[in-house]
Amino acid sequence: MTDDRETVTASESLRRSEAAEQRSEAAVSKIVDTALSAVAAIQRVRTLHRPVEHRGRAICVECSSWADGSTDNPPTEHPCATIQALGNQEET
Ligand SMILES: [Zn+2]
Repeated sequence: MTDDRETVTASESLRRSEAAEQRSEAAVSKIVDTALSAVAAIQRVRTLHRPVEHRGRAICVECSSWADGSTDNPPTEHPCATIQALGNQEET
């Protein structure tokens, strides 16, 4: 009887351990998804605030509202405040 009870306990312990492992893997997966989503969002912002050569200097496309060689806003030097806020790290 004691052996049976110990077997059940060991089995239950294994089941709980496996369930905990699955929860842990799901949590890690969720963190990875969140991190990848954040990296993608940062990359979209970097693309939006990319530099362009304008009259001999680098300006921000988005902040300067640059298009076809002219700006709708006063030319904003690149890296702009947005890129500086992201840490000004060039990534590809
Ligand atoms: Zn900008």
